[in-house]
Amino acid sequence: MAKLKALGNTQFHFPDLLKESSRLHGHLCPGQVLGVRMSIVGLAEIGICDPKGDDRKRIIVFVEMDRCATDAVQSVTGCSLGHRTMKFMDYGKMAVTFVHLKTGKAVRVIAREDSRQKAKEYFPEIENKYEAQLEAYKIMSEEDLFDIMEVHVKINPQDMPGRPLRRIQCESCGEYVQDMREVYREGKVFCRPCTAAGYYEPVGHAIS
Ligand SMILES: [Zn+2]
Ligand SMILES: [Zn+2]
Repeated sequence: MAKLKALGNTQFHFPDLLKESSRLHGHLCPGQVLGVRMSIVGLAEIGICDPKGDDRKRIIVFVEMDRCATDAVQSVTGCSLGHRTMKFMDYGKMAVTFVHLKTGKAVRVIAREDSRQKAKEYFPEIENKYEAQLEAYKIMSEEDLFDIMEVHVKINPQDMPGRPLRRIQCESCGEYVQDMREVYREGKVFCRPCTAAGYYEPVGHAIS
């Protein structure tokens, strides 16, 4: 794993970003602190200064967890599922990859497991471990908080922001599938849940 040294992050104002992410998320928590700091370091590493302005169309993030920090990443980067600029990889890991679409530069930022223990050592007088983490994560060095690796990410045209490349009707349920998520089997075309177990099971008849 190549370890990179984070650049100076002077273009990002941590307290303001934390305030905004806590507002959007609904509360201040260790995940907000971590997510904001992950985003600052990740964006800086790929050379993004103005994620919600000039660089708006130049970033995609891959989040590997659906936890508090995910909202912080959305808040700082401006990337979201709805804009197709945030991809959710259900790995259950506290890690986020930041991709610069124009240069192809990408870094994966992983929260270090030992940062939890270190946080306690920073504030031994705080009994509640979440409170200790919250305060410690604000001041711990990037090296103590994160591992950073340079990565290559291939993003397919059907996963890019913009209009859907196509819409196709499932031959089993009749529902439409866009963005090339259809499945071809024995000369027929299906949606994913019709070829394997989906997350839902229909109960009785359609309501309308
Ligand atoms: Zn939270
Ligand atoms: Zn179907």
